[in-house]
Amino acid sequence: MSLKRSITAVAVATAVLAGCAAQAPQSDASPKSIIFMIGDGMGPAFTTAYRYYLAGEAGSEVNPTVFDDLLVGMASTYPEDNTWVTDSAASATALAAGVKSYNGAIGVDGQKLPVEGVLAKARKAGKSTGVVATSQVNHATPAGFVAHVASRRMYDAIAEQYVQQRIADQTMLDLILGGGQRYFSRDPGGLAEQMAEQGYQQIWSMNELDQLTQLPAMGLVADVALPHAIDSDQPERLDAMTNKALELMSGQDEGFFLLVEGSQIDWCGHANDIACAMAEMHDFSAAVARAKAFVDANPDTLLVITADHSTGGLTLGANGVYEWKPEVVAQVHASVRPLTEHLMAGGKTALSSRWRDKVDFDLAPEELAALEKGFDQGEEKLGRAVLKVINNRTVTGWTTGGHTAVDVPVMAYGAGAEAFIGHQDNTQIPQRMMQLMGW
Ligand SMILES: [Zn+2]
Repeated sequence: MSLKRSITAVAVATAVLAGCAAQAPQSDASPKSIIFMIGDGMGPAFTTAYRYYLAGEAGSEVNPTVFDDLLVGMASTYPEDNTWVTDSAASATALAAGVKSYNGAIGVDGQKLPVEGVLAKARKAGKSTGVVATSQVNHATPAGFVAHVASRRMYDAIAEQYVQQRIADQTMLDLILGGGQRYFSRDPGGLAEQMAEQGYQQIWSMNELDQLTQLPAMGLVADVALPHAIDSDQPERLDAMTNKALELMSGQDEGFFLLVEGSQIDWCGHANDIACAMAEMHDFSAAVARAKAFVDANPDTLLVITADHSTGGLTLGANGVYEWKPEVVAQVHASVRPLTEHLMAGGKTALSSRWRDKVDFDLAPEELAALEKGFDQGEEKLGRAVLKVINNRTVTGWTTGGHTAVDVPVMAYGAGAEAFIGHQDNTQIPQRMMQLMGW
């Protein structure tokens, strides 16, 4: 009885999974193009939180998110190190090349030898290539797909490889879109000028995005990272860049490989800042919906979405309380650092009123007392007190300022999506892409 029931459950689950993938337009041929989207730090608690964040107060109607619609499986993420917990560099190398490596490794194996990833293979196959990120473009995740260096900290060497590395007599990338101006010097002879000489259209701010009209193109729109979505005057900046990337890529006869990273979900997770994380999820979700619409219009495209790891040990509910309050998360309109700076900039007597400049609920007397104490002890302590108020009010839990080893969700849609159904190791994701492409 119980065996029969469990078999039926498996059959139903398989049918549901197959149904998800089968919603996508199918094609027997290899995909022409691949859109690979990585939500950095986007463990399952983040996709769950985002669903309830959209629903609002508990008891509200719950609708599936685009992540729910496209979910096909899960992936393990452990690195080659003697640990189960990966960093973004080892995971990017795994997701790019199908090879496990050590934490910190960018496109190299455990012996620090270069490994060829899907982006390079796409290049060799004559496809256009691009990376889009809300961090600096030479940060670990995109770098793992493009460069080969022993350490993620080698930002300058990574940027140089973006410009100077050649594969099949070509540069690695037709499109570079994100932050990182400081790593691509605009001085005479600098990397930016070298790229201009190679024919790249260039822009230096989000306002100029429309000026990119053809490949090759580069837009470095921030000195290092873009502002957090929650603090940005353009909170859907990843969606805007993804839209531009797809517009530029779609005209390419041989197809393309595009990597899109929602870089800062992870950073909000490190900060244990739930409002920050949900704003990043919202932007990433919009970019995913846009990519899905592109696949609907171009069914020979494969869309795969996953995370490199989870961050922060996020829990929805904490301290024995059977509640989570996304409607309170939505009342916070700044990430913790600018909120704290705004509080510090006023006097101690202005804490309550300045809090209300950025947050839609009043501080309770004991919360105000905690903030006053933090204020006296300086910005770092005040920041911790601010986070404590937000996490207590929203009943959000965090176990770490680092990463965790939980499996991450895998979503797939379009040509070949069914190859990603079920549980897999993260190294199998690019391996399956390569199989589908015949590389
Ligand atoms: Zn991280």
